[in-house]
Amino acid sequence: MRDDNCIFCKIINGAIPSNTIYEDDTFQVILDVNPASKGHALILPKEHYANLYEIDEEVAAQAMKLAKKLAAHMTKVLNCDGFNILQNNGEVAGQTVFHFHIHLVPRYKDGKNNDILKWTHEEFTAEELAAICQELSLA
Ligand code: 5GP
Ligand code: ZN
Repeated sequence: MRDDNCIFCKIINGAIPSNTIYEDDTFQVILDVNPASKGHALILPKEHYANLYEIDEEVAAQAMKLAKKLAAHMTKVLNCDGFNILQNNGEVAGQTVFHFHIHLVPRYKDGKNNDILKWTHEEFTAEELAAICQELSLA
């Protein structure tokens, strides 16, 4: 399934050009047009799923396997010093393109954006943490 209004679907069907570093029947991996670092790439499933809640479980599992493979390959080629994988769901979480994607972000010791993932802590009491834990428990 494709979404005619989706920019990543347009890339996948060839209507919008991209720098593609990998492609198979299920995925296309492209360089991000506004990269956070040299080599910043995006894993796109060829089917349109808006986010993690909607993606087929098997495709999600395959996407993570591909992320591992590409992280190893990119680290070797780029000689980067670390690596982030990121996946945003919903506007408040930073998602701007509503077609599931995994960011592959090579990190470098002297990189320009080395603060991107630093956040301040929220404080919770021990009682609040226990209540959150109970609320979230799947056991
Ligand atoms: P999000 O914020 O949704 O997690 O990430 C969307 C990413 O897609 C952004 O990093 C943005 O730079 C990238 N992006 C948006 N439009 C295009 C495009 O047309 N081509 C490519 N290659 N990347 C895009
Ligand atoms: Zn799409």
